[in-house]
Amino acid sequence: MAGLRDKLPLLLGAKTAKALATSLDIETVSDLLRHYPRRYAERGELTDIAGLELGEHATVLARIEKVSKRRMKSRNGTILDMVITDGKRRLTCAFFNQAWREKDLVPGKHGLFAGKVSAFRDTLQLTNPEYELFEADRADEAMDDFLAAIIPVYPAAQGMPTWSIAKCVRQVLDVLEVDDDPMPAELRRLHKLSDLDTALHGIHRPANWAHLEASKKRLKWDEAMAVQLIFAQRRHSAISRPAKANPHVSGGLMDAFDKRLPFDLTAGQRGIGDEIAADLTSEHPMNRLLQGEVGSGKTVVALRAMLQVVDNGRQAAMLAPTEVLAAQHARSLREMLGDLGQAGELGAAENATRVTLLTGSMGAKERKKSLLEIVSGEAGIVVGTHALIQDHVEFADLGLAVVDEQHRFGVEQRDALRTRGAGDTSPHVLVMTATPIPRTVAMTVYGDLEVSALREMPVGRSPISTTVVPVAEKPAWFERIWQRVREEVGKGHQGYVVCPRIGDEPPSDKSDKRPPLAVLEVAPELEHGALQGLKIGVLHGRMPPDEKDAVMRAFSGGNLDVLVATTVIEVGVNVPNATAMVIMDADRFGVSQLHQLRGRVGRGSVPGLCLLVTEALDGTATRERLAAVESTTDGFELSQLDLELRREGDILGAAQSGKRSTLKLLSLLRDEDVIAASRASAQEIIEKDPDLKKYHGLAQMVADVVDVDRAEYLEKS
Ligand code: ADP
Ligand code: MG
Repeated sequence: MAGLRDKLPLLLGAKTAKALATSLDIETVSDLLRHYPRRYAERGELTDIAGLELGEHATVLARIEKVSKRRMKSRNGTILDMVITDGKRRLTCAFFNQAWREKDLVPGKHGLFAGKVSAFRDTLQLTNPEYELFEADRADEAMDDFLAAIIPVYPAAQGMPTWSIAKCVRQVLDVLEVDDDPMPAELRRLHKLSDLDTALHGIHRPANWAHLEASKKRLKWDEAMAVQLIFAQRRHSAISRPAKANPHVSGGLMDAFDKRLPFDLTAGQRGIGDEIAADLTSEHPMNRLLQGEVGSGKTVVALRAMLQVVDNGRQAAMLAPTEVLAAQHARSLREMLGDLGQAGELGAAENATRVTLLTGSMGAKERKKSLLEIVSGEAGIVVGTHALIQDHVEFADLGLAVVDEQHRFGVEQRDALRTRGAGDTSPHVLVMTATPIPRTVAMTVYGDLEVSALREMPVGRSPISTTVVPVAEKPAWFERIWQRVREEVGKGHQGYVVCPRIGDEPPSDKSDKRPPLAVLEVAPELEHGALQGLKIGVLHGRMPPDEKDAVMRAFSGGNLDVLVATTVIEVGVNVPNATAMVIMDADRFGVSQLHQLRGRVGRGSVPGLCLLVTEALDGTATRERLAAVESTTDGFELSQLDLELRREGDILGAAQSGKRSTLKLLSLLRDEDVIAASRASAQEIIEKDPDLKKYHGLAQMVADVVDVDRAEYLEKS
């Protein structure tokens, strides 16, 4: 009898075990049984010889009819010619320099032959096919296997074809004993899950399709549950720290701010605002991710949260990824607050607070003043870069940290934040991101946070119309692009031309693909060609900061008509008068990047125009991605489309990379129900038993995932 943790050599023999280990990194029974089939073939999929098609990879069940050996004419080698038959037709196979196979390939034997179908002198043939012959004494069993209704096809490796893997799996399954199902019986009952033993048999040797589906469901649950338990534990340990409660203060700054808001909050802003207000009132720290596209009104939501904390005599910090963005935030917070944020100044409102900026590039004197305001508590709202937390700036009483741009702010930094409250309390944390991600991805990648999404844009935003310009099929449209840009400029507006590359890089020789268009090449071309007479500026990341600044100022002041730029304009650039954006070689950008880029136009009262210029051909996956960007301006819908267009593995990216990904069956696209249900179950279990003391099986599942993570982390570092 064998258990899941047993090593393979004793079960399969040293040679086979070694082959599995070297070719597929499979060491234990568990590794082998979690090496799931890539797909399943039905008996019908064993191609008849008559049905073979040139170029396909086919597996045929046949009998060896004739084998002969000859010398190669040109070179010093041998060819083994073999004719096989399925009883109706014949097929030739050729083995090059494998004369030793002659003793295996005995006429009359049956077997499976697999390979890519090629043509030789007008007849189809298999060259160097892989094969599995049925041994006389085990022929029945082997035949049974291959004639079973559903045949597993495994991810194979050199020297380890799918049928060898199947054979190993069969041997192991025959002696497998799963004595302790890690999934608690009550969960299995509740969600109608098979037991582990049934599921492992069912995924490898399904009796029928229903058996297979039930098995898959159970094994997906294993994957989802392990990840969600880890997140639930992280959430639990984060929120079990003490925090200071900040109840709503009637007649405070927040109320005053609400009263003077020049617009009505959207339903989303109100709903999420209520959620956050409740979180802030708790004596455990909030731990929330706020998603919403640029312009969806996140800052207003964050500011209201900050005011609730300031109303309780505490401080709120807002952290941005760059100094420029920090300065911009400070400016816009001050603007929104008006006299409510002018404490210490003439004309300040009663009980006003102060917004203090702290950045690394400040002069010593200014910096000292800021630090003093922060430590004394005079600064109700502190704005800075993430360094604000790492540098151990001393706060009087930090009650809330708002972090802008989640993706540059990792788990470790969030952990560091937790120690920054007064005494042993943790500040409440609100993380904001402008990159919408589908719910399943949020639950899997940012699973340790509660997630809120602002889906609707405030009314009065101008629409952006996006058009793909396929210059390969419609060269004439190229002219039209620049005409449109001229029209916009003619109306007193401005435009961007975005290129994927700067153009000052040393040429790379290896690629036969045309290098992407470059700012430094496109700008002069336009200046002397299609956009002659317009005032054109250039902006990219390798310009000196003061030059960048000057260009930005000239553009926002209206002294430039067109800005030719790289993606530096992606974040933070806000020029409401810019109405047109032309993205060159748009196919070289990702979907969310394109979406982010076009958010730079249509920020004023005039509709925006975005042209995605590409040489990619119709019907390609690339064009499909561009068509998706064209089809909707809803970032959430787009992120879902993107998810559908991308390969699953790409999405988890850094979060779940590596050959031993913990997610093998679970699909972020199709298994939302499993992910959501397992998240709820995990939450419930961890609330009752945070250390999984009563759930040994689940604790082991968690440990396995954490081990894989740690191993990968060690490998990387
Ligand atoms: P984000 O931070 O999500 O990019 P902001 O909070 O900066 O968005 O809001 C973008 C613009 O929309 C700001 O000028 C803001 O004043 C305005 N705004 C925010 N909420 C509303 C609303 N409910 N109605 C109208 N305008 C709004
Ligand atoms: Mg913002």
